[in-house]
Amino acid sequence: MRFAPSPTGMFHVGGARSALFNWALAEQSGGTFVLRIEDTDAARNRPEWTEGIISALAWIGINGDSPHFEGPYFQSAYEQQHREAAAKLLKDGRAYHCTCTRDEVKARTGSEHQGYDGFCRDRGLAEGAVRFRTPDDGITVVEDKVRGRVEFPNSAMEDFVIVRGDGSPLFVLANVVDDMEMRIDSVVRAEEHLSNTPKQQLLWEALGAEPPQWAHVPVIVNEKRQKLSKRRDKVALESYRDEGYLAEAMVNYLMLLGWSPGDDREILPWSEMMPLFRLEDVNQSPAFFDEKKLRAFNGEYIRALPLDIFVARCEPWLDPSWDRGVFGRVAELAQTRIAVLSEITANVDFLFLEEPVFDQASWDKAMKPGAAEIVSSYAERLETVSWDAESLKVALEEVGAERGLKLGKAQAPVRVSITGRTVGLPLFESIEVLGRARSLDRLRTTLTKLT
Ligand code: GLU
Repeated sequence: MRFAPSPTGMFHVGGARSALFNWALAEQSGGTFVLRIEDTDAARNRPEWTEGIISALAWIGINGDSPHFEGPYFQSAYEQQHREAAAKLLKDGRAYHCTCTRDEVKARTGSEHQGYDGFCRDRGLAEGAVRFRTPDDGITVVEDKVRGRVEFPNSAMEDFVIVRGDGSPLFVLANVVDDMEMRIDSVVRAEEHLSNTPKQQLLWEALGAEPPQWAHVPVIVNEKRQKLSKRRDKVALESYRDEGYLAEAMVNYLMLLGWSPGDDREILPWSEMMPLFRLEDVNQSPAFFDEKKLRAFNGEYIRALPLDIFVARCEPWLDPSWDRGVFGRVAELAQTRIAVLSEITANVDFLFLEEPVFDQASWDKAMKPGAAEIVSSYAERLETVSWDAESLKVALEEVGAERGLKLGKAQAPVRVSITGRTVGLPLFESIEVLGRARSLDRLRTTLTKLT
C-alpha cells in the first residue's frame, strides 16, 4: 500500500481518509504502508507542507512507530528511474518524441479539445517531449474495487505526454514508475485520479509489469453537496487537531466517510474498525463531511476518557499560571460539557482570573431590572451560609422564592457575576470552588456596576 500526497497545501481531511483506508489494509494484511511525498512540482511545493503531512499523519497514528510504516520517500529522488522508464518505452517503440506546439495541433485539428492527432508518431524524432502511443481501438478495462469494472475506449485516449520538452517527467509516469519501484500492489486513492488510471494501466503493461489493484474512493462534499475546497471549507486536518479534536475521534469519523462497519455502530475504536474494513464495502457516492456530527463524536470520545487522561489532554489549553489543583476540582464537571478540548479555556478561566471575562450579550441578558436585588440579597446570605454546593443552591432558591422566581431565573445574574457568561459549569459547584471571599467580591462588583 502507499499514500502519495503532493505537498501543495495544508493536509486535507480527504487525504487523511485515503491514508487511513490504506493504513487499515496494511495493518490487517500484515503489509506495508509506504509514505511517498510527490514533490516534483517545485513551483507549488513547500517544505512546511511536507512537514505538515508527516506530523498530521503521525497524529492520527500513521507513523514509524509501527512496523507497517515505511518512508517518507521523496519522488524527486527517483528522477533517474523516471527517465530510464521513458527511455525504455522509446526504445521499445511504445513512445515517441514530439515537437508539436499546442498551436500547431490546434491548427491541424481545428479544435482545442480534439486531443493530439498523432502527427509525430512515425517521424522518428530524437528530441522533444515524449508521448506514449495509445492503442487506436479496443478498450482499456480498469477493475476497480470500489467503482467496479470501468471501461475506457482507447480511441478517446490521445497519445499522452509522459516527459516534457525540457526533459522533466510528468505525474502520470513518475507515479507509475515509483509504484513499480516500491512494489506497490494496491492503489487506494481519490476518485479524481480515476481518469488517469487507464493511461497508467497502459504504462504498467508497457513497462512489463502487472498493474496494481485499483480502488478510487468517493469525493467528500460539504452540506451543500459541493466538493470540499480549501477556499470554502475547513479542510486542514491540522486545524481540527489545533481546535482540540481527539485523534481517535477524528480517525473514527474519517473512516466513516464512505464506509461503515456494516452494523449500527458508528463509534468504534481503530482496533475494531481496522480488521472490518473492506474496499468492497466502500460507497461510490459522495461522502458528506458533517462537522456537527464530528463534534458530537468528539464530545463522546471526550466523555469516555478516564479523568486523569482528560486532565492531561486539557493541558495545552490551560494557562501555565493556573492552579492545577483548582482545575482538578472542576475537571470532571467540565468533561461532560465540552465537545472540543479548546472549549475548556472559556469554561474554567473564571476560576483563575482576577475578574471574569464578561460576555456582553450574557451581561445584557442577565442584568434585567430586579437583578441588583437578587445579587445583593444573595451576597448577604453568602456571608454566612455553610460553604458547600447544596447550601449555596438552597440559599439562591430562597432568594428567588422571596421574589416569586424559579431558580433558573434567579441564577442568571449570579452566574454572570461569577463566571462572566450565561452558560458554563454547574453554578453552585463553581461558587464552592471559587471560595467565599472571591465570590462575594464578584457579586459586589456587579452591584457597583449596576447601581
Ligand atoms: N500525488 C497525487 C495527489 O496528491 C496522488 C496520486 C496517487 O495517489 O496516485 O493527488
